[in-house]
Amino acid sequence: MSEKTKYIFITGGVVSSLGKGIAGSSIGLLLQRRGLSVCHVKFDPYLNVDPGTMNPFQHGEVYVLDDGSETDLDLGHYERFTGVPMTQDNNVTTGQIYNTIITRERRGDYLGATVQVIPHVTEEIKNRLRKLERVDDSPDVIIAEIGGTVGDIESLPFLEAIRQMGQEEGPNNTMFIHVTLVPYIDSAGEFKTKPTQHSVRELREIGIQANMLLCRSAQPITEGLRQKISLFCSVPTRSVIAAEDVSTIYDVPVKFHQQEVDDIICEHFGWELPQPQLGDWAAMVEKINDPKKSIKIGICGKYVMLKDAYKSIIESFVHAGVANDAEVKLIWVSSEDIKQHGPEKFLYDIDGLLIPGGFGERGVEGKIEAIRYVRENKIPFFGICLGMQCAVIEYARNICNLSEAHSYEFYRELKHPVIHLMADQEGVTELGGTMRLGAYPCELTSGSKSEVAYGKAKVSERHRHRYEVNNAYRDMLTEHGLILSGLSPDGRLVEIIEIGEHPWFVGVQFHPELKSRPTNPHPLFRDFVGASVAYHEKRTIELEPEASKRD
Ligand code: GLN
Repeated sequence: MSEKTKYIFITGGVVSSLGKGIAGSSIGLLLQRRGLSVCHVKFDPYLNVDPGTMNPFQHGEVYVLDDGSETDLDLGHYERFTGVPMTQDNNVTTGQIYNTIITRERRGDYLGATVQVIPHVTEEIKNRLRKLERVDDSPDVIIAEIGGTVGDIESLPFLEAIRQMGQEEGPNNTMFIHVTLVPYIDSAGEFKTKPTQHSVRELREIGIQANMLLCRSAQPITEGLRQKISLFCSVPTRSVIAAEDVSTIYDVPVKFHQQEVDDIICEHFGWELPQPQLGDWAAMVEKINDPKKSIKIGICGKYVMLKDAYKSIIESFVHAGVANDAEVKLIWVSSEDIKQHGPEKFLYDIDGLLIPGGFGERGVEGKIEAIRYVRENKIPFFGICLGMQCAVIEYARNICNLSEAHSYEFYRELKHPVIHLMADQEGVTELGGTMRLGAYPCELTSGSKSEVAYGKAKVSERHRHRYEVNNAYRDMLTEHGLILSGLSPDGRLVEIIEIGEHPWFVGVQFHPELKSRPTNPHPLFRDFVGASVAYHEKRTIELEPEASKRD
């Protein structure tokens, strides 16, 4: 709609992990619902070119896009909230900026000039922003989030670049929103505004005056406190927003709207737009907060300690829970514990088991044990990527009697490498850039559980893996009852496996969690949760036949 793309810059102060990504996504959703086209970008101040090679233990999950780029998990929030598909241009790292500049310098493009952070690095950062402005349907607003915390050495070039953008574009075309912490000090019985004052001042020293503050706190901050923060930080009281903890991240846009965040932004940019329609969104939040049923899903993986490593999976269960009117309680089980103590001890009262993706051999035997347990006990199972590969190994070992079946990822000298590299991948040894990454089409077998779930015959899903089901074992697996219900259009790659004689046993080579949205849950997650609800109800009746009759 607008003639000129506007910029909203989101920075964070005091501590990390305040939810800048969710704040930005929520603002994006509100503006989108007022009729604007929104584009998000995340600037990550680390030197890695992308997070693909980073340990998910430290960095959280790697979020893969359709175009195959490996990006920060905040892009997952942007896509989930706005539904706008991202590309590699929407995640910019210091590593990428330096890569571009050094390549140019070696080529002699700088014509003898001394290459410096200011202006060369800051120019390149601004170029990346302006590139987004130039995409086909030039967005009405670009929401740029600067990773890290104000005061970090590595985020300084980004802050300097957005300060320059503020100058060049002018105050009517740029807005600075700062996410800050207002801690409650128990011993004093008070909220403290000093950390916020300091971080706003630190921004000002760089030359950026915040236009709005999103004050993160455990409890809502009072009107008096907002006035105090307003006074010290030179931000109008109306623009000092209480952003207290909420029971679900999807409530954040609703809470922001109640405090007129979107009205303030529209007024700032001179937009006169209708109020956003949030009925479906609010209904979804209500369902999350007040589910009628409750089930337990076991998740068996290696990174059981860091939930950010499974961000999209956790969110997908929230979405699937809404569709089934059920609370999905996730029970994190270490695959090494299962290996040591057996699956029964940990899985006896779960209603479904999910084995997520992963790399490396640690914990694989425990996962295979867990899969055997749920297959034999007819408990719903969903295997994703490595989880699907483990299901194939389990099936080969225990149903096809190939006791030495395993994946070529873990052992090179194998009698039965049921999971292997594709012929054209062999010999590729370098770490980055050798995986099957991004969106690939998949054709579904008619009448399979997958086809029933999707309700169509051809789908596109995102991948991130090196190994595949070994075609040399296909006949043996299918003769023993395994259903290959999803294949690549040329038939060469197995994308989905199922077991027929089981309430719900599906393994997928791709990552469905990357495509689930709160108001549009992924069909496989939705049906897996549906099957787990059915299993739960059946089990409850078997355990307590009298009680269920009384209901
Ligand atoms: N490690 C396996 C592979 O590379 C699975 C990867 C994954 O689960 N994302 O094929």
